[in-house]
Amino acid sequence: MKTAVFSAHPYDRTSLDAANAAGLHELHYIEATLTAETRRVAYGYPGLCVFVNDKLDRETLMDLAAHGLRVIALRCAGFNNVDLTTARELGIPVLRVPAYSPHAVAEHAVALILTLNRKTHKAYNRVREGNFSLERLEGFDLYGKTVGVIGAGRIGQVFRQIMLGFGCQVLVYDRYPSAELAGAGVVFSDLNTVLAASDILSLHCPLTPETRHLIDASAITRMKDGVMLINTSRGALVDTQAVIEGLKNGKIAYLGIDVYEQEESLFFRDLSETVIQDDELLRLMTFPNVLVTAHQAFFTHNALNQIAQTTLGNLTAFEQGAPLPHAVG
Ligand code: NAD
Repeated sequence: MKTAVFSAHPYDRTSLDAANAAGLHELHYIEATLTAETRRVAYGYPGLCVFVNDKLDRETLMDLAAHGLRVIALRCAGFNNVDLTTARELGIPVLRVPAYSPHAVAEHAVALILTLNRKTHKAYNRVREGNFSLERLEGFDLYGKTVGVIGAGRIGQVFRQIMLGFGCQVLVYDRYPSAELAGAGVVFSDLNTVLAASDILSLHCPLTPETRHLIDASAITRMKDGVMLINTSRGALVDTQAVIEGLKNGKIAYLGIDVYEQEESLFFRDLSETVIQDDELLRLMTFPNVLVTAHQAFFTHNALNQIAQTTLGNLTAFEQGAPLPHAVG
């Protein structure tokens, strides 16, 4: 299928080209993010392939539908960037990659925890400069700590297993607790219990109107003093200003984020020679106990290959009129 692929970085091209070795699809790569300004590049393409920060709002969907759009293939699991109501109204299926490597994301959450705790990023720089002092590198044993998992889906479950392996006590909150997990012995707690009892909190639920700012000033007040907060899910789960206050008053002792509320205009780009205008992100980066990565939790070659295969499989299924098991909604 003739498909316009937005946010196409070299690593996306490599994995998509490999998955398209048989040449079933005509892929037109566009490095830019899909916006009101860039969308005209997709005129005349029945297929549209996008990633997390490509915005498919009503106006864009109506415009592209009027110019031949028939199917949307997301290269991700989350679909908060698509106006699903409009897509449905237009009869345009939205296909996603529901599961690629939950391990990639869960393991990155653990990487953030270990780095913040044991300060390996600081140790690396110190040792390179001949500074072998251990001052201020002290961490804590993860063994015996209480870890709260918010959202026990594919990623949350893998993360839970890893933390159990460290000897942590793991508490789980899910708005829709799975009977299968409960049957397998997972005990679900209510949100307040998880917030109040956890030394480390890790967010693994999707961004929905209900979960937007799930972690706000009130939720932070209910957390343990000195909590570590990890977000590898979606930036807007967290009220950034409230978290900054929590860091300033010491309630939050560590923050690890792979996602950020306003990341659309920042992440996946080299802005090293640019004056960054986002004061909240810059404030976050001034804290010594904050670690920011730029939405790289999914970024393993295993995940990229899986994403590419499922994405093109979704387009093939649509083209052949086959069932669409990965349609959203
Ligand atoms: P999933 O659908 O398997 O699991 C999500 C879980 O969240 C489900 O169990 C669901 O019941 C639960 N949930 C829904 N609403 C909730 C609420 N209000 N409160 C608590 N729990 C709620 O999804 P997944 O594959 O585990 O992915 C989780 C999220 O991770 C995705 O939505 C996506 O935003 C994010 N993600 C990030 C990256 C990255 O690179 N940083 C990569 C992939 C996915």
